[in-house]
Amino acid sequence: MAGLYLHIPFCASRCIYCGFYSTTGLNLQEDYVRAVLQELDYRTDKGNGLFPCSRQRSGGTLTENERFSTIYFGGGTPSSLGTPQLDSLVNGIRERIDMSCVEEWTMECNPDDITPELAEWIGRSPINRISMGAQTFSDERLRWLCRRHTSRQVEEAVSLLRKNGIDNISIDLMFGFPSETLEEWEEDIDAAVALRPEHISAYSLMYEEDTPLFRMLEQGKVTEVDEELSRKMYETLVRRLKESGYIHYEISNFCLPSRQSRHNSSYWNQVSYLGLGAAAHSYNGRRRWWNVSDVKGYLRLIHDEVPAENGIGGECEDIDSTTRYNDIITTALRTSSGISLNSLTDGQREYLLLQSERHLKNGTLAMDDGRLHLTESGIFISDDIMSDLIFIEE
Ligand code: SF4
Repeated sequence: MAGLYLHIPFCASRCIYCGFYSTTGLNLQEDYVRAVLQELDYRTDKGNGLFPCSRQRSGGTLTENERFSTIYFGGGTPSSLGTPQLDSLVNGIRERIDMSCVEEWTMECNPDDITPELAEWIGRSPINRISMGAQTFSDERLRWLCRRHTSRQVEEAVSLLRKNGIDNISIDLMFGFPSETLEEWEEDIDAAVALRPEHISAYSLMYEEDTPLFRMLEQGKVTEVDEELSRKMYETLVRRLKESGYIHYEISNFCLPSRQSRHNSSYWNQVSYLGLGAAAHSYNGRRRWWNVSDVKGYLRLIHDEVPAENGIGGECEDIDSTTRYNDIITTALRTSSGISLNSLTDGQREYLLLQSERHLKNGTLAMDDGRLHLTESGIFISDDIMSDLIFIEE
């Protein structure tokens, strides 16, 4: 089954580390919601850009591969939309797609947006999973990152969501801040675990080009955490979360039993997805396309005919067999279940086994039931292993 992704590229202010596209022009939100629903029409039944996942297309006789099983509102900050806009979006989607197979509907939220009113709205809506950017429980680091919330607001947001019946909450954490100690990181992990979220994602602080943080690094105002400490922080994360009952199911993702992110798992398993909105990406197994990363440009171009299997703004890429193989290496290998050799052609399987030999011998890769996966020691050098396994055309 497929996934539906809606990109909501609005943020009340920008965090210093963020490399994602978003705008602080919140006055465009109403037009944007209308445009996204228009794109959904175009991409499915009403336009010429048929994505194989729509309600009316085959008179209600869609096959399993033609239905959405997950919906994801990502950003940006989807929770920055007011409840009237969220209502329009949710109702607009329900009117347009077959909802019978949708099992998971996630919305990314910033903790400061979770007011009693919004939590109550979420509780009434079909959204059944919340992904919240906590990042750290140190108010000093939150201020430094230019996050708009405090650690107390994260706790209050979780409590409000629980009160309104949300039983699937994911929390994002970051580690490796300049001058952060291992003890401080352990305090963050403990604070997150104390809230008992069903899911935790944790990433080391990245210095993305064109961000204020990157400029600070270039100007020598901050120093990256050293590799050894970063590795210890990651090891501590894995150990502490496992001790607390979380399953380590992807390099950066942990969950309580059966609470994997179904939507994100589909990206790692080459499942089709339709992305709507500025900067959103889509994939249907044969092709990948992505929309222009500019809200005003998107609002202007949405009035033109939306081309089939092509981004608004014209960007796309055909997926040949080499691209598909390399996608599998860089996504499926991140998961604890790894790569199924059956998903590869004979030639790809042969190439993969040849390239894996050294890593299988030194114990950084292992093979179980026809699946090649990273071992615990392999996770720490996953980038190096992946670059050995991918296929580079001469
Ligand atoms: S709120 Fe999220 S998307 Fe917006 S700037 Fe901060 S990290 Fe980026």
